[in-house]
Amino acid sequence: MNERFASLEEYTPGEQPQDKKYIKLNTNESPYPPSKSVLRAVTKKEISDLRLYCDPECKKLKAEMAKLFGFNGENIFISNGSDDILNFAFMAYGTKGAAYPDITYGFYSVFAQLHGVQSEIIPLKDDFTIDVEQFKNKGKLVVIANPNAPTGIALSLKQIEEIVKANQDSVVLIDEAYVDFGGESCCKLTQKYENLLCVGTFSKSRSLAGGRLGFAIANEKLIADLEKIKYSTNPYNINRLTQITGTATMKDNAYCLSNCRKIIKTRQWVTDELISLGFTVLPSKANFVFVKSDKISGLKLYEELKSKGVLVRHFEKDKIRDFNRITIGTDKEMKILINKIKEIL
Ligand SMILES: *Cc1c(COP(=O)(O)O)cnc(C)c1O
Repeated sequence: MNERFASLEEYTPGEQPQDKKYIKLNTNESPYPPSKSVLRAVTKKEISDLRLYCDPECKKLKAEMAKLFGFNGENIFISNGSDDILNFAFMAYGTKGAAYPDITYGFYSVFAQLHGVQSEIIPLKDDFTIDVEQFKNKGKLVVIANPNAPTGIALSLKQIEEIVKANQDSVVLIDEAYVDFGGESCCKLTQKYENLLCVGTFSKSRSLAGGRLGFAIANEKLIADLEKIKYSTNPYNINRLTQITGTATMKDNAYCLSNCRKIIKTRQWVTDELISLGFTVLPSKANFVFVKSDKISGLKLYEELKSKGVLVRHFEKDKIRDFNRITIGTDKEMKILINKIKEIL
């Protein structure tokens, strides 16, 4: 293989065990299924139509998204999971390098390596918040997850605007995978700033992680760049069933919003319980909490929970090895989690 790729440190996805049934709190999926109208949309006819190629322009899906988000089709890009957009953005806008936090989504450094993009890695502050001043006047691609992962901490819309405004000669990508759980979306700012690429996904708040559907909202010039790369790699990258289920999901947005409200409520309850057990819980605006105990190491808690049938996510990085990231599931799942943690402690 080409040496450039042979030495890549590839992304490690969260475990997707097929052997036994776990309470799965490790990859931030929704505990709630897609809405009933999504289930109804997958008809026998649609399955029979799988013999045909899908619409490369995703016209119906894009029209529903445009309607719901209040944008024109030229301002929306649809992708096979939002990871695809991150990939394309490092490919397209990384020639002068890329700046992103030291503790953030693990894929950014993988895409940087993949495309030979020089990384400037900016440490979070001691309280795990993003140091806004350090992200100004970079002259290179800026990538920020807001809320950040795995901390769950969000920047305000005002702070995001400061960063976008202070980097008008380069692209600022805001990854809003978790924005529906209490953050503020910056998508409307794309009408004011041509350098802002706002990225979202159907994987977390819209219960379609397995469908693989992501999107970007931006000025039409940035969208045209992404389309160019898409048509140069895989024009049929959103399969028929995903276009259909995605369209039905947009039509039933109220269902997704109500699931988000449930998750926020459960998150508050879990946070209170963990704090009363002596945990440090970072203030989360996402569908997970990032927590550490002074009674048990992060790795040990992860292992003990796994042996009791509950999967959470542990990261080996020094700065966060005391922590675990725990996805917010249903109330029932989270009660089991808390009981198992009590047993372990
Ligand atoms: C889950 C996640 C994504 C990827 O989502 P897909 O749309 O499933 O590819 C992107 N960014 C962050 C920060 C995530 O946590």
